[in-house]
Amino acid sequence: MPAQIIDGVKIANKIKEGLKEEIQKLKAEGKSPSLAAIQVGTDPGSEVYIRSQKKSCEKMGIEYNLHKFDEKITQTELADFIQKLNQNPGVSGIILQMPLPSHLDARYLQHLIDPKKDAEGVSPTNMGMVVYGKPVLGPCTAMAVIELIKSTGVELYGKEAVMVGHSDIVGKPTALLLLDKFVTTSVCHIATGERGILPDYVKRGEILIVAVGKANLIKGEWIREGAIVIDVGINRVGGKIVGDVEFEVAKERASYITPVPGGVGPVTTAMLLKNTVEAAKLQIK
Ligand code: NAD
Repeated sequence: MPAQIIDGVKIANKIKEGLKEEIQKLKAEGKSPSLAAIQVGTDPGSEVYIRSQKKSCEKMGIEYNLHKFDEKITQTELADFIQKLNQNPGVSGIILQMPLPSHLDARYLQHLIDPKKDAEGVSPTNMGMVVYGKPVLGPCTAMAVIELIKSTGVELYGKEAVMVGHSDIVGKPTALLLLDKFVTTSVCHIATGERGILPDYVKRGEILIVAVGKANLIKGEWIREGAIVIDVGINRVGGKIVGDVEFEVAKERASYITPVPGGVGPVTTAMLLKNTVEAAKLQIK
């Protein structure tokens, strides 16, 4: 039987619906949530993401302010600007859009964001809370992956998961969040691929998450029968957006699978909104 397709848009809408009441409550208390986005230069991918963030925020009644800077801005100037946003009580959440020009140290700048305003959940404090199994403002994509897995209703305790990709913002925190649910989790990366043992790992996964950025890296025939497959990858192939998993074959073997687009992406955006609302609440405390 072909897999059930996990509808990311539907899950995102449910999360957003739940946020509406909280936003009204915050507004009534005079603490209207707002998101400040910082963009340096004019990366086309980033422009698309910014437009979608702005639209999503406005639909929810979250104020969205975009601060655009020329790509020649210095690290000190940008650092000063971040500190100003940190101190501005009218700003609940801050997001530093990637990519940044190569003369700017993205990690250093992200780490300057006040953890209570860190809408993407990328500061060391927020990552640390993931290690402790108590995310406050969790990394959006990793939190989205967990939400998508949970939507299947499958019992996670004792399951075997395989996380392909070990980036700081997706692979590592997702693996930690799964461990915290007593899922036995293997993490694969480029060296797993180079040794030729990626299929061996993928075949074990009752839950498979892939965040690499290489179209069709994961062959459909590697998928374990009945697996839950979460495809985080975004690749542009011949004018179409596809994931990292060979979808058509994989869906014949999996029990649940996320489409690309329409899977992880919309839930990640919903998590950004959720974090912005949480951030506004944290600043009242
Ligand atoms: P990254 O580029 O930081 O890391 C890629 C990872 O893939 C690394 O761990 C690397 O070792 C691993 N890798 C590379 N080649 C491999 C191979 N042949 N075999 C096994 N592992 C291999 O990745 P990222 O920032 O986590 O992004 C990954 C993908 O997810 C990208 O396509 C990105 O666009 C997408 N993404 C989507 C969302 C979303 O909301 N849908 C959010 C974040 C990232």
